[in-house]
Amino acid sequence: MNRLTGKVAVVTGAGRGIGAAIARAFAAEGAAVVLAELDIETAQASAREIAGQTGAKTLAVRTDVTQSASVQAAVSEAQQAFGPVDVLVNNAGINVFADPLTMTDDDWRRCFAVDLDGVWNGCRAVLPGMVERRAGSIINIASTHAFQIIPGCFPYPVAKHGVIGLTRALGIEYAPKNVRVNAIAPGYIETQLTHDWWNAQPDPQAARRATLELPPMKRIGKPEEVAMTAVFLASDEAPFINASCITIDGGRTALHHE
Ligand code: NDP
Repeated sequence: MNRLTGKVAVVTGAGRGIGAAIARAFAAEGAAVVLAELDIETAQASAREIAGQTGAKTLAVRTDVTQSASVQAAVSEAQQAFGPVDVLVNNAGINVFADPLTMTDDDWRRCFAVDLDGVWNGCRAVLPGMVERRAGSIINIASTHAFQIIPGCFPYPVAKHGVIGLTRALGIEYAPKNVRVNAIAPGYIETQLTHDWWNAQPDPQAARRATLELPPMKRIGKPEEVAMTAVFLASDEAPFINASCITIDGGRTALHHE
């Protein structure tokens, strides 16, 4: 339980879902964790709960990943509170699913502002310190939508393809400085985001059943299952994994059709 002892980690969108699970797993492994989240109330509640459960140092900071200055400020607060940032998880993300031709310009911009600009804003905020110290691990939460297209989900997969491109490009740019940049591509994971999507369908129960039928393991993932991989990539157990992506989908993207 001390695979991240002495490390300082920032996790965006950590008030709930996958981000909260990552923050909890990092804290349980000994990291000091900053929960950088748009909704400060959920971030504070998560930070309190995680500190109570693990005894780790936690800090909630209101952060809008679409605003570069907001992310810079969160990283500065993290440094002041706990010291230089060793690990950044760019987790904050939103679903924007629309028909390409009827989608509004605002929907397009909202999707890219959070799902791609948000990731870049995070990387840009921590990279100078990591390069200076010649150490760091950045983990970008992509999606299986980064490789495969589900009709009706535009433009989310376009942004997630971009997250993989950004991961590979920065991983190569900063490899000589010993900064690793990797992605995790989850398949369906049971979070509020997934429940919101089911609830938006004409028959939510049927949509849920259909989702659970699709994966080879006949279930969807848990946030904790993504968090375990984030711990591995953040730790000193993955020193030669860089510019790469780990898929966590129970094998679904390997399945052609039944
Ligand atoms: P949730 O919606 O449960 O949590 C996302 C969190 O990000 C929320 O707390 C949300 O805050 C926060 N957030 C949203 N916008 C911003 C912003 N501009 N700045 C800071 N924080 C923000 O999502 P998940 O946990 O399900 O998803 C986390 C990541 O995993 C996303 O990148 C998503 O695309 C990806 N993913 C999820 C999958 C799934 O099946 N759940 C599958 C594949 C990938 P608020 O509540 O205030 O909006």
